[in-house]
Amino acid sequence: MPIAPDSVTLYDANGAPANLPHEPLSDDDLRLLLEYKKFLARHGYREALYCTRCWTKNLEDGTRAEVKTEGLTVEALIQCRCRVAYGRGGGIH
Ligand SMILES: [Zn+2]
Repeated sequence: MPIAPDSVTLYDANGAPANLPHEPLSDDDLRLLLEYKKFLARHGYREALYCTRCWTKNLEDGTRAEVKTEGLTVEALIQCRCRVAYGRGGGIH
């Protein structure tokens, strides 16, 4: 099941539709995120993401990221309080 539908309708903590700017992730971005996730797992690390734009605007931290694979497809979502970065595709070689 996809992290988010193609239209990237996401919901905030209150269950209301999140009206955040959408930034598409390229296939290269998706492959890089997947490799990064594998790297972290291999070396026993876990990532902690912070959005510098939220930080600048003094918004509370609330960044979440998810990267997953389905067959040869990579799907990634990074959501914070000011935007959503999302992509699906990539292809693993
Ligand atoms: Zn942000």
